[in-house]
Amino acid sequence: MIDTTDDNEIHDVVVVGAGAAGLNAALVLGRARRRVAVIDAGEPRNAPAAHMHGFLSRDGLRPATLLELGRAEVARYGVRLVRDRVERIDPRPRPEDGAEGAPDDGLGGGRTAEIGPGYHVRLTGGSVLTARRVLVATGLRDELPGIPGVRERWGRDVLHCPYCHAYEVRDQPLAVLGTHPGAVHQALLLRQWSDDVVFFPHALDLTADDRERLAARGLSIVEGPVERLVVDGDRLRGVGLADGRVVPRDAAFLFPRMVPHDELLAGLGCARDDNGWVTTDRAGRTSVSGVWAAGNVVDPRVQVVAAAGMGSAAAFAINTDLLEEDVERAVGRHRATAAVTATATLTAAATLTAAAEVTAAAGGAVRDGGDGR
Ligand SMILES: Cc1cc2nc3c(=O)[nH]c(=O)nc-3n(C[C@H](O)[C@H](O)[C@H](O)COP(=O)(O)OP(=O)(O)OC[C@H]3O[C@@H](n4cnc5c(N)ncnc54)[C@H](O)[C@@H]3O)c2cc1C
Repeated sequence: MIDTTDDNEIHDVVVVGAGAAGLNAALVLGRARRRVAVIDAGEPRNAPAAHMHGFLSRDGLRPATLLELGRAEVARYGVRLVRDRVERIDPRPRPEDGAEGAPDDGLGGGRTAEIGPGYHVRLTGGSVLTARRVLVATGLRDELPGIPGVRERWGRDVLHCPYCHAYEVRDQPLAVLGTHPGAVHQALLLRQWSDDVVFFPHALDLTADDRERLAARGLSIVEGPVERLVVDGDRLRGVGLADGRVVPRDAAFLFPRMVPHDELLAGLGCARDDNGWVTTDRAGRTSVSGVWAAGNVVDPRVQVVAAAGMGSAAAFAINTDLLEEDVERAVGRHRATAAVTATATLTAAATLTAAAEVTAAAGGAVRDGGDGR
Protein backbone atom coordinates (compact mmCIF):
# COMPACT_ATOMS: atom_id res chain seq x y z
CA MET A 1 0.00 0.00 0.00
CA ILE A 2 1.29 3.43 -0.91
CA ASP A 3 1.69 5.76 2.04
CA THR A 4 2.09 9.33 0.92
CA THR A 5 0.07 11.44 3.26
CA ASP A 6 0.15 15.07 2.27
CA ASP A 7 -1.72 16.94 4.95
CA ASN A 8 -2.20 20.07 2.84
CA GLU A 9 -4.30 18.44 0.15
CA ILE A 10 -8.05 18.82 0.19
CA HIS A 11 -9.77 15.65 -0.87
CA ASP A 12 -13.16 15.43 -2.43
CA VAL A 13 -13.66 12.19 -0.50
CA VAL A 14 -11.77 10.35 2.21
CA VAL A 15 -12.78 6.70 2.37
CA VAL A 16 -12.09 4.92 5.66
CA GLY A 17 -11.56 1.19 5.12
CA ALA A 18 -10.18 -0.62 2.07
CA GLY A 19 -12.31 -3.74 2.09
CA ALA A 20 -14.68 -4.50 -0.78
CA ALA A 21 -17.01 -1.62 0.14
CA GLY A 22 -14.34 1.08 0.47
CA LEU A 23 -12.28 0.01 -2.54
CA ASN A 24 -15.26 -0.23 -4.88
CA ALA A 25 -16.35 3.25 -3.83
CA ALA A 26 -12.81 4.53 -4.42
CA LEU A 27 -12.74 2.92 -7.87
CA VAL A 28 -15.94 4.68 -8.97
CA LEU A 29 -14.89 8.02 -7.46
CA GLY A 30 -11.35 7.80 -8.88
CA ARG A 31 -12.76 7.11 -12.33
CA ALA A 32 -15.05 10.12 -11.84
CA ARG A 33 -11.82 12.14 -11.47
CA ARG A 34 -12.49 12.96 -7.85
CA ARG A 35 -9.58 13.50 -5.50
CA VAL A 36 -9.79 10.50 -3.18
CA ALA A 37 -7.74 9.08 -0.31
CA VAL A 38 -8.41 5.66 1.22
CA ILE A 39 -7.17 5.02 4.76
CA ASP A 40 -6.98 1.40 5.82
CA ALA A 41 -5.82 -0.39 8.95
CA GLY A 42 -5.33 -3.65 7.00
CA GLU A 43 -7.60 -6.01 8.99
CA PRO A 44 -10.38 -7.16 6.66
CA ARG A 45 -13.01 -9.37 8.25
CA ASN A 46 -12.51 -12.43 6.07
CA ALA A 47 -8.70 -12.50 6.46
CA PRO A 48 -8.77 -15.86 8.32
CA ALA A 49 -10.35 -17.62 5.30
CA ALA A 50 -8.13 -19.16 2.62
CA HIS A 51 -10.74 -18.75 -0.13
CA MET A 52 -13.58 -16.40 -0.93
CA HIS A 53 -16.75 -17.74 -2.53
CA GLY A 54 -19.94 -16.41 -4.08
CA PHE A 55 -18.41 -13.50 -6.01
CA LEU A 56 -19.06 -13.88 -9.72
CA SER A 57 -15.81 -14.33 -11.69
CA ARG A 58 -13.77 -14.34 -8.45
CA ASP A 59 -15.08 -17.54 -6.84
CA GLY A 60 -12.35 -19.33 -4.89
CA LEU A 61 -9.92 -16.41 -4.91
CA ARG A 62 -7.83 -15.67 -1.81
CA PRO A 63 -9.50 -12.78 0.03
CA ALA A 64 -6.16 -10.97 0.17
CA THR A 65 -5.75 -11.30 -3.61
CA LEU A 66 -9.09 -9.59 -4.25
CA LEU A 67 -7.98 -6.63 -2.15
CA GLU A 68 -4.53 -6.51 -3.78
CA LEU A 69 -6.21 -6.39 -7.21
CA GLY A 70 -8.61 -3.73 -5.96
CA ARG A 71 -5.82 -1.56 -4.58
CA ALA A 72 -3.90 -1.79 -7.86
CA GLU A 73 -7.04 -0.83 -9.81
CA VAL A 74 -7.87 2.24 -7.72
CA ALA A 75 -4.23 3.40 -7.72
CA ARG A 76 -4.43 3.55 -11.53
CA TYR A 77 -6.97 6.37 -11.19
CA GLY A 78 -4.85 8.43 -8.85
CA VAL A 79 -6.52 7.34 -5.62
CA ARG A 80 -4.14 7.68 -2.65
CA LEU A 81 -3.87 4.61 -0.45
CA VAL A 82 -2.68 5.18 3.08
CA ARG A 83 -1.95 2.41 5.59
CA ASP A 84 -3.04 3.88 8.92
CA ARG A 85 -6.00 3.92 11.29
CA VAL A 86 -8.49 6.76 11.49
CA GLU A 87 -8.92 7.80 15.10
CA ARG A 88 -11.50 10.53 14.73
CA ILE A 89 -13.41 12.54 12.18
CA ASP A 90 -14.22 16.14 13.11
CA PRO A 91 -16.48 18.55 11.26
CA ARG A 92 -14.45 21.34 9.72
CA PRO A 93 -15.40 24.78 11.06
CA ARG A 94 -17.37 26.99 8.69
CA PRO A 95 -15.59 30.13 7.41
CA GLU A 96 -18.16 32.30 9.21
CA ASP A 97 -17.17 30.59 12.48
CA GLY A 98 -13.91 32.49 12.09
CA ALA A 99 -11.58 29.61 12.96
CA GLU A 100 -10.78 28.60 9.44
CA GLY A 101 -11.76 29.70 5.99
CA ALA A 102 -12.23 27.60 2.90
CA PRO A 103 -8.74 27.86 1.40
CA ASP A 104 -7.94 27.90 -2.27
CA ASP A 105 -6.72 24.35 -2.86
CA GLY A 106 -5.23 25.16 -6.23
CA LEU A 107 -6.81 22.15 -7.92
CA GLY A 108 -7.37 22.52 -11.60
CA GLY A 109 -8.57 20.76 -14.73
CA GLY A 110 -11.23 18.15 -14.16
CA ARG A 111 -10.45 18.15 -10.44
CA THR A 112 -12.64 20.06 -8.08
CA ALA A 113 -11.35 23.25 -6.54
CA GLU A 114 -14.32 24.25 -4.41
CA ILE A 115 -14.94 22.84 -0.98
CA GLY A 116 -17.68 23.04 1.59
CA PRO A 117 -16.82 22.97 5.27
CA GLY A 118 -16.19 19.20 5.12
CA TYR A 119 -14.26 17.16 7.65
CA HIS A 120 -10.88 16.70 9.26
CA VAL A 121 -9.88 13.03 9.31
CA ARG A 122 -7.35 12.36 12.06
CA LEU A 123 -5.01 9.38 11.69
CA THR A 124 -3.23 7.48 14.44
CA GLY A 125 0.07 8.30 12.73
CA GLY A 126 -0.55 12.00 13.39
CA SER A 127 -1.63 13.15 9.93
CA VAL A 128 -4.84 15.07 9.43
CA LEU A 129 -6.59 14.87 6.08
CA THR A 130 -9.22 17.33 4.92
CA ALA A 131 -12.21 16.05 2.98
CA ARG A 132 -15.39 17.49 1.54
CA ARG A 133 -17.17 14.17 2.14
CA VAL A 134 -16.31 11.03 4.09
CA LEU A 135 -17.31 7.44 3.46
CA VAL A 136 -16.93 5.07 6.41
CA ALA A 137 -16.50 1.44 5.28
CA THR A 138 -14.81 0.01 8.34
CA GLY A 139 -16.59 -3.36 8.49
CA LEU A 140 -17.28 -5.28 11.70
CA ARG A 141 -15.58 -7.67 14.07
CA ASP A 142 -16.78 -11.15 14.90
CA GLU A 143 -16.80 -11.79 18.65
CA LEU A 144 -16.32 -15.53 19.03
CA PRO A 145 -17.48 -17.67 21.96
CA GLY A 146 -14.66 -18.58 24.35
CA ILE A 147 -14.81 -22.31 23.57
CA PRO A 148 -11.21 -23.57 23.23
CA GLY A 149 -10.39 -24.34 19.60
CA VAL A 150 -12.92 -21.93 18.07
CA ARG A 151 -10.58 -18.98 17.57
CA GLU A 152 -7.79 -21.24 16.33
CA ARG A 153 -9.99 -22.83 13.63
CA TRP A 154 -12.07 -19.71 12.73
CA GLY A 155 -12.43 -19.30 8.96
CA ARG A 156 -10.88 -22.71 8.34
CA ASP A 157 -13.16 -25.48 9.62
CA VAL A 158 -15.07 -23.35 12.12
CA LEU A 159 -17.38 -21.29 9.92
CA HIS A 160 -20.45 -19.10 10.08
CA CYS A 161 -21.79 -18.54 6.56
CA PRO A 162 -23.20 -21.58 4.73
CA TYR A 163 -23.40 -19.61 1.46
CA CYS A 164 -19.68 -18.82 1.68
CA HIS A 165 -18.21 -22.12 2.84
CA ALA A 166 -20.72 -24.97 3.20
CA TYR A 167 -20.19 -26.21 -0.35
CA GLU A 168 -16.56 -26.97 0.48
CA VAL A 169 -17.67 -29.23 3.39
CA ARG A 170 -20.70 -30.72 1.66
CA ASP A 171 -21.67 -34.28 2.60
CA GLN A 172 -19.30 -34.21 5.58
CA PRO A 173 -20.20 -34.68 9.28
CA LEU A 174 -21.07 -31.14 10.43
CA ALA A 175 -21.76 -29.54 13.81
CA VAL A 176 -23.82 -26.47 14.64
CA LEU A 177 -23.04 -24.91 18.01
CA GLY A 178 -25.88 -23.16 19.86
CA THR A 179 -23.98 -20.04 20.82
CA HIS A 180 -26.57 -17.62 19.36
CA PRO A 181 -30.36 -17.60 18.88
CA GLY A 182 -29.78 -17.75 15.09
CA ALA A 183 -28.18 -21.20 15.41
CA VAL A 184 -31.42 -23.14 14.90
CA HIS A 185 -32.03 -21.48 11.55
CA GLN A 186 -28.37 -22.04 10.63
CA ALA A 187 -28.75 -25.78 11.37
CA LEU A 188 -31.99 -26.06 9.37
CA LEU A 189 -30.25 -24.35 6.46
CA LEU A 190 -27.07 -26.45 6.62
CA ARG A 191 -29.06 -29.61 6.05
CA GLN A 192 -29.06 -28.54 2.38
CA TRP A 193 -25.35 -29.36 2.20
CA SER A 194 -25.08 -32.49 4.35
CA ASP A 195 -27.42 -35.14 5.69
CA ASP A 196 -25.16 -35.57 8.74
CA VAL A 197 -25.69 -32.41 10.80
CA VAL A 198 -25.58 -32.56 14.62
CA PHE A 199 -27.02 -29.66 16.60
CA PHE A 200 -25.36 -28.90 19.95
CA PRO A 201 -27.78 -26.64 21.91
CA HIS A 202 -24.87 -25.84 24.32
CA ALA A 203 -26.19 -22.69 26.02
CA LEU A 204 -29.50 -22.43 24.10
CA ASP A 205 -32.89 -23.41 25.48
CA LEU A 206 -34.66 -25.07 22.57
CA THR A 207 -38.43 -24.74 22.35
CA ALA A 208 -40.62 -27.73 21.52
CA ASP A 209 -41.16 -26.13 18.12
CA ASP A 210 -37.38 -25.89 17.52
CA ARG A 211 -36.95 -29.55 18.40
CA GLU A 212 -39.75 -30.61 16.09
CA ARG A 213 -38.39 -28.58 13.18
CA LEU A 214 -34.84 -29.90 13.68
CA ALA A 215 -36.10 -33.50 13.92
CA ALA A 216 -38.31 -33.06 10.85
CA ARG A 217 -35.24 -31.88 8.90
CA GLY A 218 -33.36 -35.03 9.98
CA LEU A 219 -30.91 -33.34 12.36
CA SER A 220 -29.64 -35.00 15.56
CA ILE A 221 -29.47 -33.08 18.82
CA VAL A 222 -26.66 -33.72 21.31
CA GLU A 223 -27.41 -32.15 24.69
CA GLY A 224 -24.90 -30.77 27.22
CA PRO A 225 -22.41 -27.92 27.34
CA VAL A 226 -19.67 -27.93 24.72
CA GLU A 227 -16.31 -27.73 26.46
CA ARG A 228 -13.83 -27.65 23.56
CA LEU A 229 -13.22 -28.42 19.93
CA VAL A 230 -10.94 -31.36 19.36
CA VAL A 231 -8.18 -30.39 16.94
CA ASP A 232 -5.46 -32.67 15.72
CA GLY A 233 -3.08 -32.57 12.75
CA ASP A 234 -4.25 -29.03 11.81
CA ARG A 235 -7.83 -30.30 11.42
CA LEU A 236 -11.03 -30.23 13.41
CA ARG A 237 -11.76 -33.78 14.59
CA GLY A 238 -14.75 -33.41 16.85
CA VAL A 239 -16.81 -31.55 19.44
CA GLY A 240 -15.86 -32.28 23.06
CA LEU A 241 -18.61 -32.10 25.70
CA ALA A 242 -18.23 -31.31 29.39
CA ASP A 243 -19.09 -34.89 30.31
CA GLY A 244 -16.07 -36.14 28.31
CA ARG A 245 -17.89 -37.35 25.21
CA VAL A 246 -16.38 -36.42 21.83
CA VAL A 247 -18.66 -36.34 18.79
CA PRO A 248 -16.52 -36.72 15.64
CA ARG A 249 -17.12 -33.82 13.21
CA ASP A 250 -15.19 -32.42 10.22
CA ALA A 251 -16.48 -28.86 10.41
CA ALA A 252 -18.48 -26.72 12.84
CA PHE A 253 -20.72 -23.73 12.20
CA LEU A 254 -21.62 -21.03 14.70
CA PHE A 255 -22.93 -17.47 14.77
CA PRO A 256 -20.47 -14.96 16.20
CA ARG A 257 -21.66 -11.75 17.83
CA MET A 258 -21.16 -9.17 15.10
CA VAL A 259 -19.98 -5.79 16.38
CA PRO A 260 -19.73 -2.94 13.85
CA HIS A 261 -16.57 -0.82 13.74
CA ASP A 262 -18.80 2.26 13.96
CA GLU A 263 -16.94 4.39 16.52
CA LEU A 264 -16.21 7.05 13.87
CA LEU A 265 -19.89 7.26 12.92
CA ALA A 266 -20.85 7.36 16.61
CA GLY A 267 -18.40 10.23 17.18
CA LEU A 268 -20.10 12.18 14.40
CA GLY A 269 -23.54 11.60 15.95
CA CYS A 270 -25.03 9.38 13.21
CA ALA A 271 -28.52 8.08 13.99
CA ARG A 272 -29.06 4.39 14.83
CA ASP A 273 -31.96 1.97 14.54
CA ASP A 274 -33.62 0.11 17.43
CA ASN A 275 -30.95 -2.62 17.24
CA GLY A 276 -28.16 -0.09 17.58
CA TRP A 277 -26.94 -0.17 13.96
CA VAL A 278 -26.20 3.12 12.21
CA THR A 279 -28.91 3.86 9.67
CA THR A 280 -28.40 4.99 6.07
CA ASP A 281 -30.60 5.47 3.05
CA ARG A 282 -30.24 3.05 0.13
CA ALA A 283 -27.25 4.98 -1.19
CA GLY A 284 -25.39 4.99 2.13
CA ARG A 285 -26.21 8.52 3.29
CA THR A 286 -26.23 8.72 7.10
CA SER A 287 -28.23 11.22 9.15
CA VAL A 288 -25.17 13.52 9.25
CA SER A 289 -24.62 15.74 6.22
CA GLY A 290 -21.55 14.76 4.19
CA VAL A 291 -21.08 11.43 6.01
CA TRP A 292 -21.73 8.15 4.19
CA ALA A 293 -21.35 4.52 5.21
CA ALA A 294 -21.25 1.22 3.32
CA GLY A 295 -20.61 -2.49 3.87
CA ASN A 296 -20.62 -4.47 7.08
CA VAL A 297 -20.27 -1.39 9.29
CA VAL A 298 -23.95 -0.70 8.65
CA ASP A 299 -25.21 -4.10 7.49
CA PRO A 300 -23.94 -7.38 9.01
CA ARG A 301 -25.71 -9.48 6.36
CA VAL A 302 -23.81 -8.34 3.28
CA GLN A 303 -21.15 -10.57 1.77
CA VAL A 304 -18.25 -9.33 -0.33
CA VAL A 305 -20.11 -8.75 -3.59
CA ALA A 306 -22.95 -6.92 -1.83
CA ALA A 307 -20.50 -4.82 0.21
CA ALA A 308 -18.79 -3.84 -3.05
CA GLY A 309 -22.22 -2.94 -4.47
CA MET A 310 -22.97 -0.73 -1.46
CA GLY A 311 -19.64 1.03 -1.97
CA SER A 312 -20.42 1.61 -5.62
CA ALA A 313 -23.92 2.97 -4.88
CA ALA A 314 -22.50 5.30 -2.23
CA ALA A 315 -19.86 6.57 -4.67
CA PHE A 316 -22.50 7.50 -7.27
CA ALA A 317 -24.53 9.34 -4.63
CA ILE A 318 -21.51 11.12 -3.15
CA ASN A 319 -20.41 12.28 -6.58
CA THR A 320 -23.90 13.62 -7.30
CA ASP A 321 -23.87 15.41 -3.95
CA LEU A 322 -20.49 16.98 -4.75
CA LEU A 323 -21.69 17.92 -8.23
CA GLU A 324 -24.65 19.80 -6.77
CA GLU A 325 -22.25 21.76 -4.58
CA ASP A 326 -19.86 22.35 -7.48
CA VAL A 327 -22.68 23.65 -9.69
CA GLU A 328 -24.10 25.87 -6.94
CA ARG A 329 -20.70 27.43 -6.41
CA ALA A 330 -20.10 27.79 -10.14
CA VAL A 331 -23.44 29.58 -10.50
CA GLY A 332 -22.46 31.91 -7.65
CA ARG A 333 -19.15 32.67 -9.37
CA HIS A 334 -20.85 33.07 -12.73
CA ARG A 335 -23.35 35.55 -11.31
CA ALA A 336 -20.62 37.49 -9.55
CA THR A 337 -18.58 37.68 -12.77
CA ALA A 338 -21.66 38.71 -14.73
CA ALA A 339 -22.41 41.43 -12.18
CA VAL A 340 -18.83 42.74 -12.34
CA THR A 341 -18.94 42.67 -16.15
CA ALA A 342 -22.27 44.50 -16.17
CA THR A 343 -20.94 47.15 -13.78
CA ALA A 344 -17.80 47.52 -15.85
CA THR A 345 -19.89 47.84 -19.02
CA LEU A 346 -22.11 50.48 -17.44
CA THR A 347 -19.07 52.37 -16.17
CA ALA A 348 -17.44 52.21 -19.59
CA ALA A 349 -20.66 53.33 -21.25
CA ALA A 350 -21.00 56.21 -18.81
CA THR A 351 -17.39 57.21 -19.43
CA LEU A 352 -17.92 57.11 -23.18
CA THR A 353 -21.10 59.18 -22.88
CA ALA A 354 -19.32 61.75 -20.74
CA ALA A 355 -16.43 61.85 -23.19
CA ALA A 356 -18.82 62.26 -26.09
CA GLU A 357 -20.53 65.12 -24.30
CA VAL A 358 -17.20 66.83 -23.64
CA THR A 359 -16.22 66.36 -27.28
CA ALA A 360 -19.58 67.65 -28.46
CA ALA A 361 -19.31 70.67 -26.16
CA ALA A 362 -15.78 71.37 -27.35
CA GLY A 363 -16.91 71.09 -30.99
CA GLY A 364 -19.71 73.55 -30.32
CA ALA A 365 -17.28 75.99 -28.76
CA VAL A 366 -15.02 75.79 -31.78
CA ARG A 367 -18.00 76.28 -34.08
CA ASP A 368 -19.24 79.20 -31.98
CA GLY A 369 -15.74 80.71 -32.03
CA GLY A 370 -15.68 80.38 -35.81
CA ASP A 371 -19.07 81.96 -36.17
CA GLY A 372 -18.00 84.91 -34.01
CA ARG A 373 -14.96 85.81 -36.10
C1 LIG B 1 -14.18 -16.12 8.16
C2 LIG B 1 -15.00 -15.38 7.18
C3 LIG B 1 -15.10 -15.82 5.88
C4 LIG B 1 -15.87 -15.14 4.96
N1 LIG B 1 -15.98 -15.64 3.69
C5 LIG B 1 -16.71 -14.97 2.78
C6 LIG B 1 -16.84 -15.50 1.45
O1 LIG B 1 -16.32 -16.57 1.12
N2 LIG B 1 -17.57 -14.78 0.56
C7 LIG B 1 -18.18 -13.60 0.89
O2 LIG B 1 -18.80 -13.01 0.03
N3 LIG B 1 -18.07 -13.10 2.14
C8 LIG B 1 -17.35 -13.74 3.08
N4 LIG B 1 -17.24 -13.24 4.35
C9 LIG B 1 -17.87 -11.93 4.66
C10 LIG B 1 -16.91 -10.79 4.25
O3 LIG B 1 -15.78 -10.83 5.07
C11 LIG B 1 -17.59 -9.43 4.37
O4 LIG B 1 -18.81 -9.45 3.66
C12 LIG B 1 -16.73 -8.30 3.78
O5 LIG B 1 -15.45 -8.35 4.34
C13 LIG B 1 -17.37 -6.95 4.06
O6 LIG B 1 -16.58 -5.96 3.44
P1 LIG B 1 -16.39 -4.51 4.10
O7 LIG B 1 -15.67 -3.72 3.08
O8 LIG B 1 -17.67 -4.01 4.61
O9 LIG B 1 -15.47 -4.75 5.40
P2 LIG B 1 -14.00 -5.36 5.55
O10 LIG B 1 -13.68 -6.28 4.44
O11 LIG B 1 -13.94 -5.93 6.92
O12 LIG B 1 -13.04 -4.10 5.43
C14 LIG B 1 -13.03 -3.10 6.41
C15 LIG B 1 -11.65 -2.47 6.43
O13 LIG B 1 -11.70 -1.29 7.23
C16 LIG B 1 -10.53 -1.24 8.03
N5 LIG B 1 -10.77 -0.39 9.21
C17 LIG B 1 -11.60 -0.61 10.26
N6 LIG B 1 -11.56 0.44 11.11
C18 LIG B 1 -10.69 1.33 10.58
C19 LIG B 1 -10.22 2.61 10.99
N7 LIG B 1 -10.67 3.21 12.10
N8 LIG B 1 -9.31 3.24 10.22
C20 LIG B 1 -8.86 2.68 9.07
N9 LIG B 1 -9.28 1.46 8.63
C21 LIG B 1 -10.19 0.80 9.38
C22 LIG B 1 -10.26 -2.69 8.40
O14 LIG B 1 -8.93 -2.87 8.82
C23 LIG B 1 -10.59 -3.38 7.07
O15 LIG B 1 -9.45 -3.47 6.24
C24 LIG B 1 -16.53 -13.94 5.33
C25 LIG B 1 -16.42 -13.48 6.65
C26 LIG B 1 -15.68 -14.19 7.56
C27 LIG B 1 -15.60 -13.71 8.98
